[in-house]
Amino acid sequence: MTMLSSEKLEIARAVESRQEKFWKISDAIWSYAELGLEEYKSSKLLVDTLESAGFKVEQGVAGMPTAFVASWSHGTGKPVIGFLGEYDALPMLSQKSGSPTKDPVVPGAPGHGCSHNTMCTMQALTVISLQEIMQKKGLNGTLKVFGSPAEEILVSRPYLVRAGLFKDVDAVIDCHGDTEFKVAYGMEGTAMYSFIVTFYGKTSHAGSSPWMGRSSADAVELMHAGTERMREHLPITQRTHWVTTEGGEAPNVVPDRASTWYYIRDLDENVESNFKWALDCARGAALMTQTTHEVKVIAAVHQRFSNKALAELVFENIKAVGKPEYTEEEEAYARALQEAAGFQVKGMDYPVELTSPETGPLRGGSSDVGDVTLVAPCVSMRYPVRVPGSPSHHWTVVSTGATSIAHKGLTAGAKAASFSAYDLLTNPGVLAKIRAEFEELARERPYKTFLPDGAQPPIGLNTALMEKYRGDMEQFYKNP
Ligand SMILES: [Zn+2]
Repeated sequence: MTMLSSEKLEIARAVESRQEKFWKISDAIWSYAELGLEEYKSSKLLVDTLESAGFKVEQGVAGMPTAFVASWSHGTGKPVIGFLGEYDALPMLSQKSGSPTKDPVVPGAPGHGCSHNTMCTMQALTVISLQEIMQKKGLNGTLKVFGSPAEEILVSRPYLVRAGLFKDVDAVIDCHGDTEFKVAYGMEGTAMYSFIVTFYGKTSHAGSSPWMGRSSADAVELMHAGTERMREHLPITQRTHWVTTEGGEAPNVVPDRASTWYYIRDLDENVESNFKWALDCARGAALMTQTTHEVKVIAAVHQRFSNKALAELVFENIKAVGKPEYTEEEEAYARALQEAAGFQVKGMDYPVELTSPETGPLRGGSSDVGDVTLVAPCVSMRYPVRVPGSPSHHWTVVSTGATSIAHKGLTAGAKAASFSAYDLLTNPGVLAKIRAEFEELARERPYKTFLPDGAQPPIGLNTALMEKYRGDMEQFYKNP
């Protein structure tokens, strides 16, 4: 750790004094491994923790039962600093904690393959530690945690923005667990439309009276054939992919219902026209097969445009916190995991860095944080809770997510986030610079949601899948 001011040393102590409680919360959420919009236990644990610290919590915001906003104000209540936090898991990634080889707790069940168990937990540790310092030092300001469900299906933020929840927020610190300790500024990732197309045909005996039937499965295949040809003529920044979610039950029954789920991704300026072209493919497929069809948009998100001045501030604090120190045992686990997974074997060796569009190519993934970056200055701080080499949505992330490596990273993240928020609360000059940069972005890219009129969060999308495993998972729940 480089030289810290006495205030930041005090904040670091405030974080360390309560870290163990938050490690347990993170481990409990890891064990619940609840899918998007099913995070009832996870969000309740976070809400209870924030409420008992004196935060005022509004639950079920923007039409999502597991979303919440937790606020706490001191003095004049200005400035208002927002903190984004996620807690949803991913299907099929169940994995034993600390096992360096692939070994599920409940085969087929969900797991925290993207470190989200640590994320809203880290933000809760951040704001509760800051609250102590603000009270001690008589600092003005409001701390607002946005409990953001269903990030893995890119759902919650456009709805939180649509509900006007970021209107009075001066700056936002988002976070993500990672293999590195870093922050980025500038344009990141792709915008995306996520939608399900369902075709309706007619059943009949596929052998004795096929002429009586109209196959919805044929329509799905023809839509795929159409978008496959479409992709060749899209800008090279596009990503277009799909899965068939329903395609009939038996070859001898012409299926009267079939569905396909699409992600259409590209730059903000291209994504809407790509989406419309895919809808034309759906219409064409229905016409060719004499079926009808229906489109349900699940999510529509912007690219991220992270604030440079805020990223530079957060990076100074990341450097001030520095990398956690790892024990021989942790290093040995990391090397064993890297060996088993076929990653480069280098232990807990990773960089601490500030990245931007100049330091690497644009990545194809998306995040619903994009919409927030267009309504408030925002950056995503990435803090180290994984073994280097572990990609997102991989069993190795689940393996590490409730170990001492993740705990150390969670604490380091909370220190860097609370140092940064402290700077925003106490240095009006730096906040003004961040705001001025944001106003320029807002002029260049005035915010307009990609959500179609009347779009609603897809409540229940994961209910059946979650219920299939919840009973078997319960015996392995960890107590917070
Ligand atoms: Zn994630």
